[in-house]
Amino acid sequence: MSAAQIDPVREARIDLDAVRRNVAAIAERVRPARVMVVVKADAYGHGAVPVAEAALEAGAAWLGVADLVEAVALRDAGVAAPVLAWLHAPDAPFAEAVARDVDLGISSGEQLERAARAGGEGSAPANVHLKIDTGLSRNGVAPEQWASLVAAAGAHERAGRIRVRGVFSHLANTDAEADAAQAAAFERALAEASAAGLDPELRHLASTAAALESPGSRYDLVRIGIGAYGVTPYGDGRTAADLGLAPAMTLRARVVAVRRVAAGTGVSYDHTWRAERATTLALVPLGYADGVPRQASGRGEVLLAGRRRRVVGRIAMDQFVVDVGDDEVAVGDPVVLFGDPAEGAPTADDWAAAADTIGYEIVTRIGPRVPRTYTRSTASASGDAARTGSEPA
Ligand SMILES: *Cc1c(COP(=O)(O)O)cnc(C)c1O
Repeated sequence: MSAAQIDPVREARIDLDAVRRNVAAIAERVRPARVMVVVKADAYGHGAVPVAEAALEAGAAWLGVADLVEAVALRDAGVAAPVLAWLHAPDAPFAEAVARDVDLGISSGEQLERAARAGGEGSAPANVHLKIDTGLSRNGVAPEQWASLVAAAGAHERAGRIRVRGVFSHLANTDAEADAAQAAAFERALAEASAAGLDPELRHLASTAAALESPGSRYDLVRIGIGAYGVTPYGDGRTAADLGLAPAMTLRARVVAVRRVAAGTGVSYDHTWRAERATTLALVPLGYADGVPRQASGRGEVLLAGRRRRVVGRIAMDQFVVDVGDDEVAVGDPVVLFGDPAEGAPTADDWAAAADTIGYEIVTRIGPRVPRTYTRSTASASGDAARTGSEPA
């Protein structure tokens, strides 16, 4: 028997229908702007290729990734849709991007020159999206250098070395006032690009947070990551359910041990928790190696035997303990760490609150030991009959 044939005791179930519903709902909401679904970091831990396919079926026009490795992996898997990659190693192979029809986000004059050398003269022009730093202070061309960058880009475009398909920026999502200041800086950058003779087809600024609540930020395209996965982008208590979005990932396992303990029994490393009275403990085979944050020790909750139950004691590398009181729980019972709140499960955002972080970090850090299985109930683009089932990751 190979390892792949052994029934895994833990699993991240990815509901591709939820991805499709989320993408379709967002596409409807932002129209006429188009949607890029961001599938960087293995689609926030959900699996880049299956998510990309589901997103495209649901009406996404573009895919976004951080780097060229991720973009070329999509091409290797047969994904033909437009792809933009925006975070480049100093020696990233831009010629390969041109050969594989991957658009390049450009954040410096040096990157622009490398793109211009990769495109034209016998090959297609390099398709680029010029990125202006409007105030995030991360990637992007500084406003002082923007005029000279767009002038150089115009010259390269006229010489057939590049095509400036987009101009973009990224918001800090600080507050409405700071976003408005960034939008104003974006407008100035667009005007300068236009004055330099550029006419980009795609102006894009918003990720999920701004796209959902600020119509003026949508321009021609919105870059949707977290919303596609049914996790909230907001830190102010607005849940994904409030936004009409369904969680795509369910993290589950089965109970591997149950024990009855006496009052006073200490549990897990350092005995940070002791039973106040006789109680039953269930052991769950997921730990921080699987992305369950140790920081949530004593605070995270799971759905087990029809109720939410709290983690007690420290979360360890491979396992943690849940207090079930006097309830009947058996080895093999299913445990849901997070999933659909409509079914009583905690959400990834609940775990984020328990670990003082954001839902993004919870889903993206689910580790490689947890197999991703895929469920879908409707026909795929390739014409499969309706089915519900699992496919290997
Ligand atoms: C990750 C990323 C996004 C997606 O952001 P969400 O908040 O997940 O929607 C959009 N644009 C850029 C440049 C990014 O790096």
